[in-house]
Amino acid sequence: MKAEIISIGTELLLGHILNTNAQFLSQQLSILGIDLYFQTSVGDNRERLMQALDIAFNRADIVITTGGLGPTDDDLTRQTIADFFNINLSLHNESLGQIKDYLKKRNRPFTPNNYSQAMFPEEALILPNDNGTAPGFMLKRDKHLFISFPGPPNELKPMFLNHVKDKLMGLSNEIIYSWLVKTYGVGESQLEEILKDLFTSQSNPTLASLVAGGYVNIRITAKAMNEQDAYSLMEPMLKTIKSRLGDAVFGYNDDSLESVVVSLLKEKGYRLAVAESCTGGKVSDLITKVAGASEVFMEGLVTYSNEAKIKRLKVKEETIKQFGAVSQQTAMEMAEGVRRELDTDIGISTTGIAGPGGGSKEKPVGLVYLAIASRERQMVKRAYFTGNRSSIKHSASNELLNLLRLHLIKR
Ligand code: ATP
Ligand code: MG
Repeated sequence: MKAEIISIGTELLLGHILNTNAQFLSQQLSILGIDLYFQTSVGDNRERLMQALDIAFNRADIVITTGGLGPTDDDLTRQTIADFFNINLSLHNESLGQIKDYLKKRNRPFTPNNYSQAMFPEEALILPNDNGTAPGFMLKRDKHLFISFPGPPNELKPMFLNHVKDKLMGLSNEIIYSWLVKTYGVGESQLEEILKDLFTSQSNPTLASLVAGGYVNIRITAKAMNEQDAYSLMEPMLKTIKSRLGDAVFGYNDDSLESVVVSLLKEKGYRLAVAESCTGGKVSDLITKVAGASEVFMEGLVTYSNEAKIKRLKVKEETIKQFGAVSQQTAMEMAEGVRRELDTDIGISTTGIAGPGGGSKEKPVGLVYLAIASRERQMVKRAYFTGNRSSIKHSASNELLNLLRLHLIKR
């Protein structure tokens, strides 16, 4: 079973918006075991949409369009489809009523062009829109299936999940099931070297590595009749990867360094305080994005100036004078200080040079010191990152979260 996606909208071609609809649909089709060989983006233009439809129907069983179902003149999907199939558009009274209700509830006027949104090719199955005015529709022609979704992602997603997914479910007798192994601290090329034989020899499951947000992830994909069979196929592979990469594997699927750190802190009953300089609150931001962080995260201080480090964390003036604000000694006193002053089990800190200015030969842009202080143990790490200011802040934050993770799992 082959599908093809046609994303309609001039905005896509101009680069004004990112095609997240195609991303969402591709992921969903893959879960359903439906092959997707082509995606096309086409502007709001009748001739070119006709061409795209023609090509798609010649090579795919299911053709899916997104966008152009709105009430305005540039929304020409429904008319073009009707012409393509040589069917008439006719008014769907139930949809008209729903559009009127939808607008009324939101105190918005019904304008004559809203009529067009209730016009559908005859014989189409209407897909209700729970979050907007334009319904979508499905059409069977010969052996082909055609599905048209509105453009706004918050309308398309529920429409797919609530009204279309079930109908596609039985079309393929296999599912494609993926797992992500999340790693940190081993570079992509080094990782491929360690797992070389796995990357080259496997056909089901298959392996791929991908870098995302500072992590190197390994995607394992298996094809099988059901989820359980797919998992059985990938289980030995998961075990081998874990045994070769050890603690570099920090989690799976939706895990992040911060979510893993929050779980570990909860498990141990530890409370955390954070003192940040060059990361400017990023570490606290990441941690507090995790639901339930309030159980373990007590306070985060952004002690950016020397005065703040001295006043809030009781870093010694002498230390900053002698070694500088960006130094092993200052990082350590910050972590110890925040732990002591806020009376927590663990204190962590960052101090560094995020650039683009402020670097020197001995202390270049990208140099960061990261420290961890618990009641029993202290450690500080000197790290060096490349990139712009924002990526240095992000990398330094990840590095500190990873250090904390390793500190917490130390046996
Ligand atoms: P509307 O009734 O809002 O006009 P529509 O079905 O006509 O809906 P479009 O006009 O094509 O859809 O797009 C409406 C909005 O939806 C766009 O401005 C954009 O924000 C979003 N959108 C459209 N296509 C995509 C896409 N492929 N990926 C992500 N967002 C999209
Ligand atoms: Mg529109």
